[in-house]
Amino acid sequence: MVQSTEGKVIHSREPLWDPQRWLPTTREEVEARGWDQPDVILISGDAYVDHPAFGTAAVGRMLEAEGLNVAIVPQPNWRDDLRDFKKLGPPKMFFGVTAGCMDSMVNRYTAAKKLRSEDAYTPGGEHGFRPDYATTVYSKALKQLFPDVPVMIGGIEASLRRVTHYDYWSDKLMPSILESSGADLLIYGMGELPLRETVRLLKQGVPFSSLKTIPQTAVLLPEGEVAQKNKRWDDFTLHSHADCLEDRERYAKNFKDIETESNRVKARRLFQQTGERTLVVNPPFPTMTEKQIDAAFDLPYTRLPHPKYRKRGPIPAYEMIKHSINMHRGCFGGCSFCTISAHQGKFVASRSKTSILREVESIKQMPDFRGTISDVGGPSANMYKMKGKEQWICDECIRPSCIWPDVCRNLDTDHTDLLDIYKSVRETEGVKHAYVASGIRYDLFLHEKGASPKAKASHDKYIEELAVHHVPGRIKVAPEHTSDHVLRVMRKPTFDLFYKFKEKFDAAIKKAGKKKTPVIPYFISSHPGSRPEDMAELALKTKDLGFRLEQVQDFTPTPMTVATEIYATGVHPYDGVNVCVARTPDEKQEQRSFFFWYKPEMRTALRKSMTRLGLGGIARRLLDEKRKTEDVTPPPHITPCGMQVPAEVAASKTPVITPDGELLDAPVKKKKPPRMEKQKPSRNKRKKTDPRGPKSEYKPEAKPAPFQKFFKKR
Ligand code: SF4
Repeated sequence: MVQSTEGKVIHSREPLWDPQRWLPTTREEVEARGWDQPDVILISGDAYVDHPAFGTAAVGRMLEAEGLNVAIVPQPNWRDDLRDFKKLGPPKMFFGVTAGCMDSMVNRYTAAKKLRSEDAYTPGGEHGFRPDYATTVYSKALKQLFPDVPVMIGGIEASLRRVTHYDYWSDKLMPSILESSGADLLIYGMGELPLRETVRLLKQGVPFSSLKTIPQTAVLLPEGEVAQKNKRWDDFTLHSHADCLEDRERYAKNFKDIETESNRVKARRLFQQTGERTLVVNPPFPTMTEKQIDAAFDLPYTRLPHPKYRKRGPIPAYEMIKHSINMHRGCFGGCSFCTISAHQGKFVASRSKTSILREVESIKQMPDFRGTISDVGGPSANMYKMKGKEQWICDECIRPSCIWPDVCRNLDTDHTDLLDIYKSVRETEGVKHAYVASGIRYDLFLHEKGASPKAKASHDKYIEELAVHHVPGRIKVAPEHTSDHVLRVMRKPTFDLFYKFKEKFDAAIKKAGKKKTPVIPYFISSHPGSRPEDMAELALKTKDLGFRLEQVQDFTPTPMTVATEIYATGVHPYDGVNVCVARTPDEKQEQRSFFFWYKPEMRTALRKSMTRLGLGGIARRLLDEKRKTEDVTPPPHITPCGMQVPAEVAASKTPVITPDGELLDAPVKKKKPPRMEKQKPSRNKRKKTDPRGPKSEYKPEAKPAPFQKFFKKR
């Protein structure tokens, strides 16, 4: 038993739950390590879970590996006299502040701007343990208490609010979060490399105030200070924050430039005038090497929540990912509504097989492991080790996506390495099942053009092995919409590919002699570009496929996505063309209601909507009760971008709409669903059976979205 200087017991009798295995979170735990003052104190909006999927733990363990004394203050109380912020005193080096794994506003509010009832990153799912705009609230509190101690901000909230951005919850354009938080330095993206460089310089005696040229960081220069030329980087000046407020076109142009730079191998340094000061956003570090990313995952995590939460109930986000493995970071999908490439980067950093198998062994040691790895995945399940065939072509590339509008011929989509990992994991002794729960990009293995014979063979093998070994009773995919023009705005492939995927997957299941495995499609309503008539088309197509969707998503504009900028400005930032946007609660509800065409209480409203839209033909077909369908309840643990998150997390992270909260039981087979071939009419026939009805009923052009009130120039 170990006691602190105040005599409190801090060692548990159970070695597994000995608090000394975690980074210290209290004064007693700090003293028990013999520290008078930590070098770094991390303040986080999430509970402390010592697992590589939780950013605070990842950063804390990395700093510890650099030889620093690191303490964590999880979910401090910001409403009282700020005693949680004071309890460890000031750190020797700096405070690190994060809102947690999610933007605090997404964590706390639904797409309808209503408070969520649960926080998946808090024990027991309790809400109320983090403030709105947590990064800013925490930073301000620290600056108030310790004005001379540097504050560094990071995590998804800081990262995606690093320049002028649209904040959906206040319906305003906001300046860089460095401005509102008063922090000294911002780290964007995954923090390991910039943090390591920061620590290296601080250890050499460089003052914190001089840290202005570290890659992947941002600072605000005081009035009159000019950034020194840096021979490593070219510079680019964005429109100022004031200009953005003045003119939506300049704001939209800014976004295009920011996204373009963040998708380049060699990005430029960005400047933006913000009030009297100049924001400097340094280019990112190159994509992590295998050795660097292995090092981040191989740190001595306990893989468990801090013992102090044991009596407060499970942490939903942890419960769902605790037996899962993340094989890589980054995503080259470039979906309009997704922030992964803006945060983790477009280029994929993959772990070595050795590191992944080492994690399998760690999972096997967990007390509640029963043989099932819940996910062998990543931001997108099947991008492991994928990159350009010729690096020099990628070096010059500014495409936001490697797979949209089509799969780049320079992209090597060979799934061989991924299949090798799957095989090794499922054949590890003690592993009974190794599932793939992350979102699968089926366009990666359904394309033919430019793929080598080896890659093509791996595509076929992938779908077969997936079907046979890695699907836990149902498979989730995210076509997101059925309408091609909405899918273009989303930067997603045509819905025809979903038919192709289902056909191939069903064939693979049949060949393996397995029982029918439902394919669960995932959709979003009210995405920019989506009109009620597009939702009617979606409803009819999914009805024809035999689906009755229960859990779907309503678009939430989160900072720094193309879709959010369209929502904010009403125009597409790449071509300036007006895009229709559902903004009001009524407009959003109307779109949402099409998902639930089979619910009796929706029928009147839907019929009214379709009559108003002149879609009588669709109404007759959609609301025809004679045609039977099956219940398909998509498990919610797939985000539209395919990120691996648990059901409960998904429910908090992205709004899930269940009109009456009902979850149906296993699919009711009232009638065998129609075969896929019958669902896919020939081109000529399709014209006649266009779910939007005869041409006279269909209104091709939607009204342009109104300009937002915060832009002065309209
Ligand atoms: S060249 Fe192709 S593979 Fe390389 S970054 Fe560009 S789109 Fe991606």
